[in-house]
Amino acid sequence: MSPEPAGHRTGEAGGVGAFLASLFDVRNQVALVTGGASGLGYAFASVLADCGAAVVVADWNAERLEKAVTSLRDPAGAAVTAAPLDVSDAAAVQALADDIVAEHGRIDIAFANAGVARGRPPLLAEGTIDEFDMDDYYGLIDVNLHGVVHTIRAAAAPMKRQRSGSIIVTASTAGVRNDPFTPYSYTVAKAGVINFMKQAAHDLARWNVRVNAIAPGPFKTNLGGGGPMPPEAEARWNSVIPLGRMGDPAEIRGLALLLASKAGSFMTGGVYPIDGGALLQGPSLPPPA
Ligand code: NAD
Repeated sequence: MSPEPAGHRTGEAGGVGAFLASLFDVRNQVALVTGGASGLGYAFASVLADCGAAVVVADWNAERLEKAVTSLRDPAGAAVTAAPLDVSDAAAVQALADDIVAEHGRIDIAFANAGVARGRPPLLAEGTIDEFDMDDYYGLIDVNLHGVVHTIRAAAAPMKRQRSGSIIVTASTAGVRNDPFTPYSYTVAKAGVINFMKQAAHDLARWNVRVNAIAPGPFKTNLGGGGPMPPEAEARWNSVIPLGRMGDPAEIRGLALLLASKAGSFMTGGVYPIDGGALLQGPSLPPPA
């Protein structure tokens, strides 16, 4: 038996470039990216816009959103629009999805990505279970877990009607194992994101809607407030990454496009780490005091 069915070869009409363009084609697709004004969300929005999708960038930071959308539209021609949004507000997320469908008729791709980092990690400060701030805890879960739930729900309805769609959630390596450098709330939210994604992937498979999670390790973004990271913090992160450095957000674009496009057409319910190997070795820890 031939290793590949006929017609599944590269190098036919148009050559390798045309083959790749067709494999990863998202032209004329309509995408929503939450938290798209910065960091990983900006990288998701930019790869989709660069590849010809119409992208709605949603973010609660109005100033950043304006700048991001201006830059994403350059060079002129990219179909990128700004949508001020707080993902923890379920009605607002639903209203945005309704607006997108009213305007474009569909939603093909949704990145449920918006997230925050706050609170104190157990090993670095007063973050032990009896001391952490419950308001911080609830506030983070509202954005990092419930914001993802709201986004998946709102995107699912049009995708079911279309009988196609790809939803990608941003989890974290801190959602697949414990991470003493990360607050309780964040690890719990990300673990929840992963299991919610799996439930939704199984549920929505009947309608040919795929749902997957990207689990980034440490990337240089504005998470945690922005501004330059103190050198000792960066050195600590570097020490837990076999590749020896934090990720550049642009390095997530390939995985994002794979999951969003028909190149990923048989992928659903998966958790894809992109972490410089961080999960291979686990955190390097000082001994407990
Ligand atoms: P970032 O701060 O650079 O970007 C996050 C964006 O989300 C910001 O523009 C922010 O304004 C927006 N946002 C936050 N809360 C929002 C809300 N309630 N509604 C709408 N927008 C909101 O950080 P990032 O690192 O790009 O984070 C993106 C996602 O990646 C988050 O879910 C984060 O938890 C996850 N993540 C990041 C890393 C990392 O090392 N940077 C690692 C693992 C996972």
